[in-house]
Amino acid sequence: MSGVATAIPAFGLRRASAHSRWSLWALLIALVAALLITLVWLAGRYEASQVQSKLERDTAEALGDIRSALTRNVQSLQALQSGHPSPASWRESSAALLRERREWMRLEWRDSSLRTVAFVDTPYRFAVFARLGRPNAQAEVSMACTNARRGSGPAYSGSYFVPQTDGLGLEVMELCLPQVTAGELTGYMVATYSLNEILAGMIGPQLARSQEISFTEADGTRLAMNGLARRGSRVFSSQQLLDLPGNTMVLRMDSWRGAPELFPNVLTALVTAMSIALVLVLVLLGRDARRRLQAEEDLADALAFRKAMEDSLVTGLRARDLQGRITYVNPAFCEMVGFRPDELLGHSTPAPYWPPELAGDYQKRQEIRLAGQHAPPREGFESVFMRKDGSRFPVLIIEAPLINHDGLQTGWMSAFLDISEQRRVEELSRASQERLQATARLATVGEMASLLSHELNQPLAAISGYATGSINLLKSPAAPGALPDIEVAMRRIAEQAERAGKVIKSVHDFVRRRDKAREPVAPQALLDAIMPLVSLQARKLGVRVDTRVKQNLPAVLCDRTMVEQVLLNLARNAMQAMDQAGIGQPSLVIEVRRSAAVRQSAAGQGWLEFSVADVGRGIPEAVQQQLFTPFFTTKSEGMGLGLSLCRTVVEQHGGFLGFAPNRPQGTIFRFTLPIHVAAVPA
Ligand code: ADP
Repeated sequence: MSGVATAIPAFGLRRASAHSRWSLWALLIALVAALLITLVWLAGRYEASQVQSKLERDTAEALGDIRSALTRNVQSLQALQSGHPSPASWRESSAALLRERREWMRLEWRDSSLRTVAFVDTPYRFAVFARLGRPNAQAEVSMACTNARRGSGPAYSGSYFVPQTDGLGLEVMELCLPQVTAGELTGYMVATYSLNEILAGMIGPQLARSQEISFTEADGTRLAMNGLARRGSRVFSSQQLLDLPGNTMVLRMDSWRGAPELFPNVLTALVTAMSIALVLVLVLLGRDARRRLQAEEDLADALAFRKAMEDSLVTGLRARDLQGRITYVNPAFCEMVGFRPDELLGHSTPAPYWPPELAGDYQKRQEIRLAGQHAPPREGFESVFMRKDGSRFPVLIIEAPLINHDGLQTGWMSAFLDISEQRRVEELSRASQERLQATARLATVGEMASLLSHELNQPLAAISGYATGSINLLKSPAAPGALPDIEVAMRRIAEQAERAGKVIKSVHDFVRRRDKAREPVAPQALLDAIMPLVSLQARKLGVRVDTRVKQNLPAVLCDRTMVEQVLLNLARNAMQAMDQAGIGQPSLVIEVRRSAAVRQSAAGQGWLEFSVADVGRGIPEAVQQQLFTPFFTTKSEGMGLGLSLCRTVVEQHGGFLGFAPNRPQGTIFRFTLPIHVAAVPA
């Protein structure tokens, strides 16, 4: 995929294409079905024609067999008469011949006027003409012999039916062979053929085995038949003419096949099997196509969703190949840098959005990245880009290798966040934080002023008392004797002045120090710094202040001034809370110890926990919710900034500020600060 423009097929288009696809499929199925039916039909026809032509060949062969057998028989008949045999010897040789030739029913020797000279009946049957008598067939014999004489060669009569004594009958035909000696007709040889026996004896057994052979007349009347009984109903039939001199018959061969079979032969079976396979493949293909279609639709949906997502994303996305050329940018990125996709795609280094003054650094960074030596930081890194109009803006870049589905890296994918707005807000909040802190400081100082006046009152009153006393002493007549007393008074004055000075200095120190750097500070030092100010108020409100600092605690790394103010704020809040609640014996406990928190600080060392506990009324539920909200206060003269500032300061140090009810009453505020690394005992 390249660029932001990816064509998504419209729904209408998709429907139209689905429609045409379906009609194509229907056409294909129809064509394949037609093809298959034609194929099966053709295969069946081919098979039938094969059977038919084999039958034709067989018939022709059978015909040939019959013809040659008949010719041979004619020759045998002629041989009977050679050597002018006597009727007795003729009978003998004829009887021998009849034993060999089953198709002959009777042999007759007739003289030229067709009177029987001698005859022999076949030994295989009871005398054929016993029932009707031979003269009954005289017409056929004379017709055949007339033809024979006319043609000077063998001639046949038409076939006729001879009923037998057993009730059955025989279809027979006469063969007449004229005997010519020296051009003179001397007689005839008449042979009676049984048509059934011709079929049974003259045709090769292999032909008769599988089909039914019969003689029929031209009109189809069956004369004689031989062969299998019919089975099945599908018949193949072949007819050929057997034209003999004087008689013409039809030799017919019928071949039966079994009842219509589904697979008549191997070819058809093969074609059918292939057709079934083809249909199966078609069905599978159809199913596959349907699945593909579904996948295509899903893909289009996913693609559309992805594109919508990419377009609506505010994060800029950019992909680069391993040579550093840009292969993809999303609309958010283009909008961020102000270039069109075509101005960026395919662009190598230096990228058009690199500020020229930084291009060298970026080039180096990219070379390192492309060399694969340095994995980019997971949380990303900051950089500065240039818009098309030349303005610079800070970006947060998160880079990750682009891995294809074979697990090979094909480039780098980067996400960009324009952090200029974030920067501006950060800047604003830092400035306002600082202002707030300054304000809070001044507020504290303002509050201090009243305390200060209260606190300075005592030494000043004492000083003025001592001074008045001293003056009175000096004015009195016994002045010289009172010198030691005056000296004591003066020393008291000096002490009180010093005490007042200290009070002022402590306030001054607190206000003046404005040193932001983090430094290791011993916890005790932090308490010492605030104690004079805390004591001021404690004395005024009659609070007992207790500090408990465990021995051998390490230093904490902190901005000293800020943390002092946190402690001061918490202590002041605690004392005010007890004052407001009118507690009889107000007491404040400030404690420092090692934190039990498992959480490690950034440098891997532990934490110190500071806690400020009072015995006031505690904090009501409603107040708890808003405790840290700036300007939330329950006090008439309060500013509501103390706690919100405290939390900010502690969190800036990486620590945590929280509160919990104190037992048996009151509240404990706790906060943690990181231990200074060098201070951690080995
Ligand atoms: P301020 O002190 O100016 O009111 P803070 O932010 O320091 O502002 O405190 C906000 C409010 O939290 C106070 O007005 C008070 O109601 C409540 N508060 C703070 N500390 C305590 C405490 N130790 N006990 C009870 N209430 C407290």
